[in-house]
Amino acid sequence: MSAEETMRVQKISDGTVIDHIAAGKSLSVLRLLGNPQNRGVTVALVMNVSSSKMGRKDIVKVEGVELTDEQVQRLALIAPRASVVIIRSYRVAEKKKAVPPEVVTGILSCTNTTCISVKEKDSVQSIFSLASPSPVSYRCRFCGRVLSEQEISAQLG
Ligand SMILES: [Zn+2]
Repeated sequence: MSAEETMRVQKISDGTVIDHIAAGKSLSVLRLLGNPQNRGVTVALVMNVSSSKMGRKDIVKVEGVELTDEQVQRLALIAPRASVVIIRSYRVAEKKKAVPPEVVTGILSCTNTTCISVKEKDSVQSIFSLASPSPVSYRCRFCGRVLSEQEISAQLG
């Protein structure tokens, strides 16, 4: 990390820093977390900064909120390379990696219009199983249709 990057990510006393989000995806990340900024939480976005690992990336800082393990897993759906740092009293208390969950329920939609989870979507919740972790893809438990990383990202963005 360059000195400039370090400064940008360390100025929060308590909360969560989500680093290595693909450039342009930070707003999707916030949406996936339920838009905490709408509930009075302070959120800082750093968009399109240069990264030695990724070329360009976004960083999201959420003050006073620590992401749960479930939220970190969910993050992997749109930010598979994200690293999550929990900050307490200006110090790094915990580091977590966004790892795609094995099963995703009710978040993704099947793209097969004849799938029961689409036709009966009021009563049948979608269920997807991890097909591949990188690039991320998921398979519908009902019909076997596979959602690519681009499709997942489009649905959640
Ligand atoms: Zn399906």
